[in-house]
Amino acid sequence: MQSEIPGKEAELCVALPNGRIKCTACARYCEIPEGKVGLCGVRGVIGGKLRLFVYGRVIAGHVDPIEKKPVTHYHPGSEIFSISTTGCNWLCQYCQNYDISQRRKVEGVEMTPTQVAQTAEYYGSQGIAYTYNEPSIFMEFARDCGLEAHKRGIFNIFVSNGYDTPDSVTMMGQFLDCITVDFKGSGKQEFVRRYIGIPSADPIFQTLQEIKSKTKIHVEITDLIVPRVGDDLEAARKLCRFVHDELGPDTPIHFLRFHPDYKMLDFESTPVATLEKHYEVAKQEGLTYSYIGNVPGHPLEDTYCPECKKVVVGRYGFYVDEWNLDDKNRCKNCGCQIPITGKLHARKKSRFQFLS
Ligand code: SF4
Repeated sequence: MQSEIPGKEAELCVALPNGRIKCTACARYCEIPEGKVGLCGVRGVIGGKLRLFVYGRVIAGHVDPIEKKPVTHYHPGSEIFSISTTGCNWLCQYCQNYDISQRRKVEGVEMTPTQVAQTAEYYGSQGIAYTYNEPSIFMEFARDCGLEAHKRGIFNIFVSNGYDTPDSVTMMGQFLDCITVDFKGSGKQEFVRRYIGIPSADPIFQTLQEIKSKTKIHVEITDLIVPRVGDDLEAARKLCRFVHDELGPDTPIHFLRFHPDYKMLDFESTPVATLEKHYEVAKQEGLTYSYIGNVPGHPLEDTYCPECKKVVVGRYGFYVDEWNLDDKNRCKNCGCQIPITGKLHARKKSRFQFLS
C-alpha cells in the first residue's frame, strides 16, 4: 500500500534544470534536491514536487489582544485568533518561541483552513494572526485560511520577519490585511549575521517596498532592541529614515524590549533608557507614531495627538484603557485626524488557547 505523502503541494517554487526545486517562499531561496527539506524544515521535495508538510497542522492556537502582536493602528482592542506551525526560516538565538520555531518536525493538531476560520469565528475573534514562527514558510496554508476568514468577515495579520520574496508578497496580496514586520537590532548587518543567521537584512527592506507599491496591506514596524549587541542608534536612524521615506511618516514603529531567552540567557533586559533613546531617534527622523513595547505602564505605550499633544489612545501593556477619539477617529480635543483603522473593539474576558 502506498504511504500517504504529508502536507500539500506547494505553489511558491520553480523547477531548476538540475532537477532541484527552488523554493520562492522566502529569501533563503533554498534549492532542494529530491528527498530533502529546506532550512525551515517544513518544505521539501517528494516525487519531484515541493510540498508544504505543515499544511493543515497547527502547533499553537491562542486568542490574543491585537496589541500583543504588536499592532496599534488597526482595529484596536480586537481579539485575534493566533496560530502557527512548526519550523522557521530564521535561527534567532533569543527566540521566545524556539520550542515551536526551531522544531524541525511536522507536529500539531490537524485543522483545515475552514476549521481555522470557524474556530476564530466561534471564539468571536475579529482577526486571525499567523505568528509565533515565520508565516511565509507556510504561506499557502495561511492564504487558504485567510480566504476562509474573509468569507466570515474576519481579517488577517502576519507577524513576520519580512524575509520574503516578490512571489510571497504577491500571495500576501490575495488575503492579507495587516502585517507587522519585525526588525531585530534595527537590521544591522553584524547583528543579523551573528544572532539570526542571515547574510543581510536587505530582503526585508525590499519586502516592505514591494508591499507598499503592490498591495493595500496595513504595515507596522517593530524593532527588537538587544542590549550591547543590537542597540546601535545609527542603525535605528537608518531604519527610521527608510520607514519615513519609503512607507510614510505616519507608519507606526515599535521599539521592543528584549528579554533573555533561549541561547541568550546571559544578556540582560534592555534598559528602558535605551528604548527611550530609540524613540527620540524616530521622532528626530520625522516618524509621528513611535512606541516603546514590553514596558507596561510606560507613557510611550500611548498614542499622542501630533497637534495638541494630548493622549488620544492610552494603553497599559496589551490593553487600551483610554480612548479619546471621536466616531471618525479624530482627536476629541483638537479634531486632528489620527490614522487608525477601525473603532475600538470591546474586549471579552474569556480566552482560548491550545498548545499541542
Ligand atoms: S521557506 Fe523554507 S524551504 Fe523555502 S526558501 Fe525559505 S527556508 Fe528555504
